[in-house]
Amino acid sequence: MSNTHAARGIDTSRPHSARMYDFYLGGKDHFDIDKQAAETVAAAYPGIFVCARENRAFMHRATRVLAQEHGIRQWLDIGTGIPTEPNLHQVAQSVVPEARVVYADNDPLVLKYAERLMRSTPQGRTTYIEADVNDPQGLLGAPELARILDLNRPVALSLNALMHFVTDAQDPYGIVGRLLDALPSGSALALSHCTPDFDPLTWQKVTDIYTGAGTPVQFRSQKDVARFFDGLDLLDPGVTVGHRWRPDLPDKDENTQPLTDATVSLWTGVGIKP
Ligand code: SAH
Repeated sequence: MSNTHAARGIDTSRPHSARMYDFYLGGKDHFDIDKQAAETVAAAYPGIFVCARENRAFMHRATRVLAQEHGIRQWLDIGTGIPTEPNLHQVAQSVVPEARVVYADNDPLVLKYAERLMRSTPQGRTTYIEADVNDPQGLLGAPELARILDLNRPVALSLNALMHFVTDAQDPYGIVGRLLDALPSGSALALSHCTPDFDPLTWQKVTDIYTGAGTPVQFRSQKDVARFFDGLDLLDPGVTVGHRWRPDLPDKDENTQPLTDATVSLWTGVGIKP
């Protein structure tokens, strides 16, 4: 590990999920060790690149739907990842220039790039906090959060490709419940989550690779992902494979390969707090 990275608390001695994900998305913000681990995942599950891309595409569509159809003006995005254009605030502010977005991640590497998340419109506001979703009270109590978000008005909680890093032993449903409890009626949950449902053998291999690399993961079934939305009004079409959630374009056209559920392997959904 270089001194600079050690000083920032960045561990380059083992692969990290955020940097592996950056590799899947074709980014440049990862180290060789991350690339090697990501290539091992890709060898077991070649769909990972499509999964990552469809995950971003779901985030774009869910953000636009919440802004356009549900009056959402504020977002709390946890597990933001290394910035990838367009970032959530760019999508939201393209619809509503005054949109406010708080980003949070527990990886010190993401903090290093956080400046890219701060390029807000003049009318809107964005900030980044280093925080762990496993400590919802600490995250919600961050002073920077209070400066940007008005928790008396609806907030969309955005948990994209995050909750599969929170195992059942860490109480994922309790965590999401505590986050939503802090938000008023009219708030939303937008969530995506990898699943073994369509190809259990492959996803067991992916689980073993992440766990072996020191990152425990728990990929969940549709039923278990749907539980995150308990008590919310699920928007149509419910908990759906990513590319089927309000697609902008038909699945197939002449230039793209057809997307299959097994390739995408991602449950997605959006719910509104009554
Ligand atoms: N939300 C982005 C990135 C997903 S990658 C997207 O969907 O495109 C998952 C991210 O979750 C990584 O950046 C990782 O650092 C972060 N993460 C994992 N566990 C976390 C935790 N306990 N608290 C906060 N962030 C976490």
